[in-house]
Amino acid sequence: MVCIKCGANTKKGYTTSVTDLGNCLLIVRNVPCYKCTECNEIIYTGDVIQRLEQIIEQAKQFSQEISIVNYSSAA
Ligand SMILES: [Zn+2]
Repeated sequence: MVCIKCGANTKKGYTTSVTDLGNCLLIVRNVPCYKCTECNEIIYTGDVIQRLEQIIEQAKQFSQEISIVNYSSAA
């Protein structure tokens, strides 16, 4: 996997995804990702993007001001 921005190599790791849903801030911790070794761009695989979308849909229903979810333990 190479960086979509600069083409450098990426390293597997974990990141915290923060999504502003307007009325709610969703924080997902320990999201698996690839991180560029040059510019720190974060790249998610298709699986992870789908999963994040599911988590976002669920968070919208709770409509708390701030939701903090652990990626691996989210239902
Ligand atoms: Zn890069």
